[in-house]
Formats: sequence, C-alpha cells, structure tokens
Amino acid sequence: MSKETLQAVKGMNDILPEEAELWLWFEEVVREWLHSYGYRNIRMPLVEPTALFKRAIGEVTDIVEKEMYSFEDSLNGDHLTLRPEGTASCVRAVLQHNLLYNAPQRLYYSGQMFRHERPQKGRYRQFHQVGVEALGFAGPDIDAEQILMCARLWQKLGLTDVTLQLNTLGDAEARQRHRAKLIAYFEQHSALLDAEAQRRLHSNPLRILDSKNPAMQELIAAAPKLMDELDEPALQHFEALQATLRQHDIAFEINPRLVRGLDYYNRTVFEWVTTRLGAQGTICAGGRYDGLLEQIGGKPAPAMGFAMGVERLLALVLEDGMAMPRAKLDVYIVHQGEQASQLASLVAEQLRDSKLRVLQHCGGGSFKSQMKKADGSGAVVAVVIGDDEAAANEVSIKPMQGGEQLRVSVQHLNETLNKFLS
Ligand code: ATP
Ligand code: MG
Repeated sequence: MSKETLQAVKGMNDILPEEAELWLWFEEVVREWLHSYGYRNIRMPLVEPTALFKRAIGEVTDIVEKEMYSFEDSLNGDHLTLRPEGTASCVRAVLQHNLLYNAPQRLYYSGQMFRHERPQKGRYRQFHQVGVEALGFAGPDIDAEQILMCARLWQKLGLTDVTLQLNTLGDAEARQRHRAKLIAYFEQHSALLDAEAQRRLHSNPLRILDSKNPAMQELIAAAPKLMDELDEPALQHFEALQATLRQHDIAFEINPRLVRGLDYYNRTVFEWVTTRLGAQGTICAGGRYDGLLEQIGGKPAPAMGFAMGVERLLALVLEDGMAMPRAKLDVYIVHQGEQASQLASLVAEQLRDSKLRVLQHCGGGSFKSQMKKADGSGAVVAVVIGDDEAAANEVSIKPMQGGEQLRVSVQHLNETLNKFLS
C-alpha cells in the first residue's frame, strides 16, 4: 500500500527559495527603515497564556471568539494560545521585564501570527507581521511619527496608491457615553438588526458599525457619532496629528467608521489600504492603546503601535511589477579529474576568504554539462580547473557574459577576479 503524501496545514504556507529571495530583500529594507527611526528589536515567544489575549484583545472580538489556536498543554494542563498578534505579547514582555522603568521604548518585532480563518488570497492561518510599538509616549507627535514612518516605507518599497484612513476613538468616558447612546439607538431599531448585530448589541455595539451587511448600512449611517461625544483633549490630540500630517503632505481620509477589531484601542486609529488586493486590502493597521498596560496588570502608560501584514505587502510589491531580486553568485567552479577536484575545493575556500560567493560544482559530469550549470547559476565568472591547470597550480577564468578566457596562478586568483567582479 502506498503511503499518502503529507501536506502542510491548510492556510499555512511554505515560502520556497525563489520567493524567499523577495522576503530577504523585504526584511533588509524593513530593518534599515526601523533603525533609521531608532526602533529596537524585541523577540517574544510564539505561545502565550490564553488569558493574555483574552484580557488584552477582548473577549468579544473576532480574534478571541473564533480565530485563536488555543490548546491545553497535555503535560501540565496550562491553557496556551499561538499568538494571533504581537501587541499583547510585547506589552506583556515590557511589563514583565520592567522596560519602562526609566525611559519610554520604541520597539519592533516580526514573525508568524496564527489565526483560524477561512484561507483565501491575503488571508492565511499562519501569516507574518512586522509590528511597531512605542510605549510611554502620550503626545500626538509619536502618532505622527509612526504614520510618517509608514509613508516612507511605502516609498522605499515602490508602492503607489496606498491610502491612509484615519479616525479617533476618543477616551474611555466618551466611548462609554457613545456606547450607551448606540445601544439605545439600535434597541429602538432592533427589528432591522441581523443576527450578528443582535448578538453584539450589548457586548460590543461598536462592532455593529463595522458590519458589511448592505441591509444595515442606512441604519448604521444614521447612528449616533462618537465624534459628537469627544472631549476637548482628545479632539486637540487628533487635530495636532492632522496638522503634522498636512505639514508633511501626507494625504488622509477621516473615516468615522474605522473602529478596528481589537478592544484595546483609544484615540488615534489608522489603516493603510489599497484597492488592488481584492477584499483583503488593509496592508497595515494600528492605533493608540493608552489603557492596555494597566489592563494587563501594569502601571498605566500611554502607547501607540501598528502592524503590517507581510504577505499582503509583498503581493502588492509584486503587483507593482517589481522584479524578483536574486542573491548574486560571484563564482561557479568547474572541475574534472582527481587532482583538479582537490584544487577546486582549496580554491573555493580561498575565494570565500575574500568574501566572494562561490558555488563549487558537485556530482561530476563533462566540462560541457558543468558549464551549462554555471551558465544557469547566474555567476559572474566560471573558474575552470582541469588536470592540466591543476598540474601547474593554475586555473582558467571564464567571464560568463562573454569575453576572453584567461589563465592565472592560484596565488594571483583573488586579485585577478576582483577586476571582473567590481
Ligand atoms: P482584516 O480586517 O483583514 O481581518 P485585521 O483587522 O484582523 O484585518 P489586524 O489584526 O489589524 O488585522 O492585523 C494587522 C494586519 O495584519 C492586517 O492589516 C493585515 O495586513 C494582516 N493580517 C491580519 N490577518 C491576516 C491573515 N489572516 N492573513 C494575512 N494577513 C493578515
Ligand atoms: Mg481579521
């Protein structure tokens, strides 16, 4: 009986070498960009206590209600969850290690996130985020910094038509007042609510505003506005952010319906969206979460952050027609005969001493078939060693783009090659 072939878990993707080149390039661009704003790397575990996400993200959110990979550790009964996002873990780590003790922190992380969703283009069960968090900063200057950062990254990635949606959720008291008015309003019109909205009416009425149900759009449009409840400090904060964005010519659209799917946000929230990835058009999202540190047991401190979906970003990069970058190979070593093979391996190591990227042919074959492989490898030159060369402690250099072949001693190989490679 033949064994069935094992497949990866649905919605969890392999990134094969060809595509991984693009990821490596992206990660390099992102790292340089983050460091240019003084953000520092932090690395958290992939698994956290389930209670952390329940408390931070909120019990009545899509993520906690239906998207988390939670399980009981069969060895000790602990309730654990594969992280669905990074902010909760990051804040947990900052509190656990007292990082805000004497200075605010600008931090970033990147890696896999896990959500049990229906897999489709731009929506996977294992996906990657780059997350950026600034903790201990209260003013709108940090909100502006993070939005300007994003704009600069889109520029570096060559992305066009990504637009900024902005909103403010105000502070806790204004949200309480608004919530009460919303519940009263939707109760009055409860006949028009769908099942999901009925269910959310008392637990998370704000999420009803996010509904895509066409039958409810009119009702939603006429609902009480949070904007009408905002207190002066929150309004001023929002105004100051907008002023800085205008000063930098960052276009934005204020979208009063932008509420975000996580409970911890207050004041500024934003999303960068594109119309070119179908329904999964949000490539980056974030906001302020001034209440979160206290909510998960720490001393209160203001904070602001955002996360980008790497799969969606890279899909957009490719959509914009960027050629797939490829790691460059300098030298392909072709060799035949026992003495030549021994010299080949010595020469390969000698070239790597000069920081060259060298692929030594393995597996034998005729000169002709080896040269074919050298051609396909993208190497700039082939270094060819036959018994003839080996006996003289020499090699032949063959430029792959055409040009004359020349023979040099092994001793002078590195300096001669530099002329071809610079
Ligand atoms: P969506 O509305 O698309 O479900 P979200 O509000 O759940 O997004 P966030 O929790 O804000 O997303 O995560 C930030 C970013 O991570 C998103 O803007 C998106 O680019 C990306 N992202 C979220 N969920 C997925 C997923 N399942 N697969 C791929 N990328 C994702
Ligand atoms: Mg989601």
